[in-house]
Amino acid sequence: MEDESTSDPQALGKVTEDLDVPRGPDLSMEITVPASWIAEGATLVVAWPRRLLCRACGGGGCDACGRSGAFSLQGEPVREPFEVSLPRREAPPSSLTIRLPSLGMPSDKEDHPPGHLFLEVRPGQPPSAGVARATRNESRVLRRDLMRSSVWMAIFVSLLFLGMLRLSGWL
Ligand SMILES: [Zn+2]
Repeated sequence: MEDESTSDPQALGKVTEDLDVPRGPDLSMEITVPASWIAEGATLVVAWPRRLLCRACGGGGCDACGRSGAFSLQGEPVREPFEVSLPRREAPPSSLTIRLPSLGMPSDKEDHPPGHLFLEVRPGQPPSAGVARATRNESRVLRRDLMRSSVWMAIFVSLLFLGMLRLSGWL
């Protein structure tokens, strides 16, 4: 009988290769956030630094980055801060890397998509400058829910009041 559950170390490599379509240069970014944010799977708002490390060489210099080891965002249109949701982890790992497609550098070839941004998240205090928790949306939803429940409460109280009037013979 063949054992089909045997894991093939080549299989993972193949899948990864398939995802590697030609694209612009990949960027690396390292941020620090409190461990509790990782435990909660928080959504972050991250501002772009002026310079980002080249993922391909890790700062050593390669053809993709013109030997500088980094990319400057200053010549580019201003990038709005991006949002990223951390995967929730019971015990925060020493670091986790999140791949964000299309947030890397644009390709110099027109039909190629931009590279990826590899965001390395480490637990620690204080959070990196430019990194904050996204709380606005949550509080807006919470407020809407509160409003909805207070409307129902008002209807309920009115009905109760009418019922009491009826019981006491006023209506
Ligand atoms: Zn490089």
